[in-house]
Amino acid sequence: MSDSSAPIDHERVHDTIVVGAGPAGLGIASTLQRIGIRATVVDRYGIGASFRRWPEGMRLITPSFTGNQFGAVDLNAITPDTSPALSLVDEHPTGEAYAAYLEMVAELDDLDVRTGVEVADVTADDGHLAVHVRGQRPWLARTVVWAAGELQYPTTGGFPGAEHARPTVAVERWEGQAGPRAVVIGGYESGIDAAVNLIEGGREVTVIDPDAPWDSVDADPSRALSPYTHGRLRAAHATDRLTLVRDRITAVTPEADTGRHVVHTAAGGTFTSDGRPLLATGFDGSLELIRERFAFDETGRVVVTEQADASTVVPGLYLAGPMLAHREAIFCFVYKFRQRFAVVAADVGARLGVDTSPLKLLRDHGFYLDDLSCCDDACAC
Ligand SMILES: Cc1cc2nc3c(=O)[nH]c(=O)nc-3n(C[C@H](O)[C@H](O)[C@H](O)COP(=O)(O)OP(=O)(O)OC[C@H]3O[C@@H](n4cnc5c(N)ncnc54)[C@H](O)[C@@H]3O)c2cc1C
Repeated sequence: MSDSSAPIDHERVHDTIVVGAGPAGLGIASTLQRIGIRATVVDRYGIGASFRRWPEGMRLITPSFTGNQFGAVDLNAITPDTSPALSLVDEHPTGEAYAAYLEMVAELDDLDVRTGVEVADVTADDGHLAVHVRGQRPWLARTVVWAAGELQYPTTGGFPGAEHARPTVAVERWEGQAGPRAVVIGGYESGIDAAVNLIEGGREVTVIDPDAPWDSVDADPSRALSPYTHGRLRAAHATDRLTLVRDRITAVTPEADTGRHVVHTAAGGTFTSDGRPLLATGFDGSLELIRERFAFDETGRVVVTEQADASTVVPGLYLAGPMLAHREAIFCFVYKFRQRFAVVAADVGARLGVDTSPLKLLRDHGFYLDDLSCCDDACAC
């Protein structure tokens, strides 16, 4: 792996800059390496930074298993020849452990990763792309892959008083939460994870969500809670300290001097939280930073080219990771978006004039999905 403190040559035009050293960015860089393209991966913090920020106790919901040798690559692997199950010996790794796996891949593939590089924008500039880095002159590139993820950009609610609630992804550990009663706003994976951890810490928890995701059963884990989470929910129910409410939040009001907050719902319910309510209502995502560099459809989903996941606004700019969408399909899990790494790499390779035929081998491993007729789902993370 390259020295992250090496100075940058601002006159150099990089073949490819990848923004984000999470599973998407590292997976793309590793795939590009198969066709001889050495991408420069930049990250505002470091490899696996989003996973290192997960609240204590949170684990991958997608199971890891050592199936690679029989053609079933570990669901959490970002390359076909690695397996978090093998390197971490854990079916549901913690965020810290998964970040360590990502470090291993970067080391194994000798990826060029530069940390402490925060990107604010990507613009077309005189035949190149200019990657605007905070506090520096722009870095130049022929192609750029945006892989800055979602987790570090949570939504802020959208109802009066939402600013009083605390995003679950901003919580480091659950012991510090005030009082015995907690309210969690949002009942998908992050909300239920918060609820289960709070219950394990002895609290009484109310989870409120208008869609009641805990009632949905679907063949696709993007539409419903994962089997892993249902198992944890059953254990939480058995304590009699969990209440699940199907309702819409209308407001959060803080009580003067007590630290308590009252959560109001459309059906007239009021629920008291001893500390700040916890907010698990999803993510705006990092695309907000470069919104003008992509088109969005009427539902708010990003529009990219079907054959290459490229921006339709800025040529040479690509998208990788859970924000990726094609019509009804959303690639919000590692095992989904990794299947588009080769599609992006093939287009980048064609632009840079390199032989892309080695990528064909990735089809045998389920790492090259260019027929999207299979996938039609929505994301529940
Ligand atoms: C709470 C939660 C749980 C999830 N659990 C699972 C799961 O179990 N299994 C699964 O497959 N998926 C899961 N997902 C989906 C998950 O988001 C993705 O699988 C994965 O994190 C996405 O990888 P990524 O590389 O796109 O983003 P990230 O892992 O977020 O990586 C993005 C990187 O970009 C960097 N970055 C951000 N902004 C900038 C910037 N402006 N400039 C430079 N660098 C920047 C960050 O520091 C970070 O290192 C979960 C998502 C959430 C929110």
